[in-house]
Amino acid sequence: MKQLNFTELSLSSEIQKAVGDMGFVEATPIQSEAIPVLLEGHDVIGQAQTGTGKTAAFGIPLLELIDTRDKVTSALVMCPTRELAVQVAQEIKKLAKYKKGIAVLAVYGGEQIQKQINALKRAVHVVVGTPGRIMDHLDRKTLDLSELKMVVLDEADEMLNMGFREDMEAILKHAPKERQTVLFSATMPKPILELTKKFQHDPKLIKVTKSELTVSSIEQGYYDIKVSQKADVIAQLIEQHGLKLMLVFCNTKRKTDEVTEQFQQLGYKAEAIHGDLRQNQRNNVLSRFKRGDVNILVATDVAARGIDVENVEAVFNFDLPLDAENYVHRIGRTGRAGKSGRAYSFVTGRNDMAKLRDIEAYTKVKIERQHLPSGKERMDLAKSKLATRLKVLIEEGDIDKYEAMIADFKHEGINLHQLTSALLKMHFAPMMTPVKEISERSTRRDDNEREHDRGKGRKQGRGKHSGEANMVRLFLSVGKKDKISKGDIVGGISGLAGIDSSNIGVIDIYDKFSFVEVDTHFLNKVLSKVNGNKIKSRKVSVEIAR
Ligand code: ADP
Ligand code: MG
Repeated sequence: MKQLNFTELSLSSEIQKAVGDMGFVEATPIQSEAIPVLLEGHDVIGQAQTGTGKTAAFGIPLLELIDTRDKVTSALVMCPTRELAVQVAQEIKKLAKYKKGIAVLAVYGGEQIQKQINALKRAVHVVVGTPGRIMDHLDRKTLDLSELKMVVLDEADEMLNMGFREDMEAILKHAPKERQTVLFSATMPKPILELTKKFQHDPKLIKVTKSELTVSSIEQGYYDIKVSQKADVIAQLIEQHGLKLMLVFCNTKRKTDEVTEQFQQLGYKAEAIHGDLRQNQRNNVLSRFKRGDVNILVATDVAARGIDVENVEAVFNFDLPLDAENYVHRIGRTGRAGKSGRAYSFVTGRNDMAKLRDIEAYTKVKIERQHLPSGKERMDLAKSKLATRLKVLIEEGDIDKYEAMIADFKHEGINLHQLTSALLKMHFAPMMTPVKEISERSTRRDDNEREHDRGKGRKQGRGKHSGEANMVRLFLSVGKKDKISKGDIVGGISGLAGIDSSNIGVIDIYDKFSFVEVDTHFLNKVLSKVNGNKIKSRKVSVEIAR
């Protein structure tokens, strides 16, 4: 498939400039093919994987079509979800940066309709929305589509899956006959073809071929393990590859919640994203993930569709997807913009194995079986990591006071060799427990995982923070379900133990429990005074997190 530079596409200077600002140089294959055809005024059916730049493929021709002197809605984009509507509107706004006086608005459920109605009272040239909410505005006559020049159905297959068919058709009937209709869809099932037949005029099919579907920069593999081992195996892979941003896919909403909780109990910052979340909750989770404040996002296929987060280092198929196309969509969330990525799947029986073979047949890629690192391999890795850290510490200096301690230990009858060996044992022993069934495992994080968190450079907290040697991490038996806030925990612990709040460090609150760091000096005080007493009228227990 041909690929052009943006300068080779005959675009207005305003769009050229905006595209340059966005850092685009080469148009993606779908853009190279679709933009000229759309500029000529044809209807288009575009088929390409997520992350291939479809938004600009229709967004650029759409903007070229708009005359800002017309005070009417000239283009309408339908998207399956609120996130996508917001993301597409944002991308179009960026592309329109130098087109003076253009108005772009996202309309979607979950946001106050009155706010949108007020915005629509002024001329909005481009409306981007979910079919349900667009219909709502049409019913209220707060949106007029009679002057439309272009309609875009983005992720049309997903909109059909979500039951928007009637709304989509009704909306298209509101648009004038003389218009351009653009449809993008990752898949081309029969209902899509029916839709294009009914609503498009002599459409040109532009398809990014299958061989380009899976990205060669993604390392793919699978693990044949027991269901109960999945979370632990992911934990090991996180450690092994030093992963910071990951997507974990499950097939049901309920499963995303369960799996999220498993990760939280292992001490990770994990959150679920699925269709049941309210709009602001979803935005909140997504922006925390983008910032890296959430490291593991556990998602269903629908919730993750089109979510565009850079730097996702790995995708885990906790459940294998129900069909091969979804596999491609899922793993396409990593290895974006030329970066490398990893995609690992779990196979737990013959059914799964058959599904995996289907995926291989569809993608024409062999997915190799992976083996968990042996004890020795993990030890070697941990050793080389420790060596690096030690070199840094030595380089930084300021270790004289510890050197002085060596003499104290010698005085206690511990020689240098014994001291070093025992310290190494302390460091390595907790890491060397092989993957076990989750039920056998403590719900607390072990040193290994705390180490992992430290590497993330978390900054919140009071005077002291994670990673300082004089802080100890405690497990507290109350969490979000108890409506406990960080303030409640600081207030409760400092009050009960009679210590200053500056001696309390990082706090992580999860659904049913929390972790809190306190200065080691006050450990005994905190354990004895807080344990069994009440914080915010909840009886709490507190223990050292292992
Ligand atoms: P899709 O709709 O196909 O899933 P998007 O339109 O959301 O893909 O684009 C994915 C990402 O790629 C976005 O961050 C977008 O800004 C970026 N992008 C799009 N086109 C280009 C390009 N030609 N060069 C570089 N990045 C691009
Ligand atoms: Mg898209």
